[in-house]
Amino acid sequence: MKKVIITGVGGFIGSHLADRFIKEGYSVIGIDNFITGRRENIEHLLNNKAFKLIEMDLGIERDLKIASDIVLNFASPASPVDYFNFPLETMRVNSIGTLNMLRLAQKQGAVFVQASTSEVYGDPLVHPQKEDYFGNVNPVGIRSVYDEGKRFGEALSMLFFREYKTKVRIVRIFNTYGPRMKKDDGRVIPNFINQALENRPITIYGDGMQTRSYCYIDDLVDGIFKIATLKDIDGEVINLGNPEEYTVIETARIIKELTSSRSNFKFLPPLQDDPKKRRPDIEKAKKILGWQPKTPFRDGLLKTIEYFKNG
Ligand code: UDP
Repeated sequence: MKKVIITGVGGFIGSHLADRFIKEGYSVIGIDNFITGRRENIEHLLNNKAFKLIEMDLGIERDLKIASDIVLNFASPASPVDYFNFPLETMRVNSIGTLNMLRLAQKQGAVFVQASTSEVYGDPLVHPQKEDYFGNVNPVGIRSVYDEGKRFGEALSMLFFREYKTKVRIVRIFNTYGPRMKKDDGRVIPNFINQALENRPITIYGDGMQTRSYCYIDDLVDGIFKIATLKDIDGEVINLGNPEEYTVIETARIIKELTSSRSNFKFLPPLQDDPKKRRPDIEKAKKILGWQPKTPFRDGLLKTIEYFKNG
């Protein structure tokens, strides 16, 4: 049985990856310290023989010896609220944690998938964002703990690819949503859905004209599975996301309609360094992986609304 290590297995994306790899016949070793990840996301796997959980903080230098064919490096606080709450932990896990996992992958000749982010493009001056764009990140702003942490992770991963021929693949993940997001992680989709369901005001930061492009979790997991299992793509950097772009106000309107909510819109001051536009160019993913998202926004939202209704 092939073995995959998933760091951040208690997280929204990590836990869905665990399900998918188990379904595909892999055994999964999940690592998490649960500062922002949640046990309930993987509770259903705890009695599964194909799953093993290791509770560990990766932000400390460690010489890890865990057999693996694939390492998925997904540990990090990832929502703005989470990385503002855990800024030092965010920088530690993205630097020292990534180094720990790269060393492990290098020693074992394992494939190493680095979870990067559209945040490496910062507040982009190029639209849509293609992999060869270097980005516009404020290195000293409040988001920099995450943005620069992830940029450092990419640099470290490429160092291992160049120096040691580690089988590195970097995935730049754009906004993703779906079941198992945290109700209170502060992100736009869970915030708006929960506000709408409770008929509370929907909080719009700034004028609401900033845009995001939202990918449903199952589509993202399909793409990551391909990145982790295809041959001959070492050293590649690939955007994954849904190129359908919405303003924040449009997002609020759609969610209000789908929940038949009586909420009104409450405009709050804009967030510092909030990217004004974001949309992935996914031509590379289409070409190399034969991948593109399939789930229409409203379908994915209905499933996510169902999750929060029952939660
Ligand atoms: N946003 C908002 N109200 C909220 C939460 C988020 O207007 O209650 C906006 C936020 O300012 C940003 C966008 O929605 O422009 C996406 O924010 P999110 O935190 O989901 O993720 P980001 O893409 O910024 O990492």
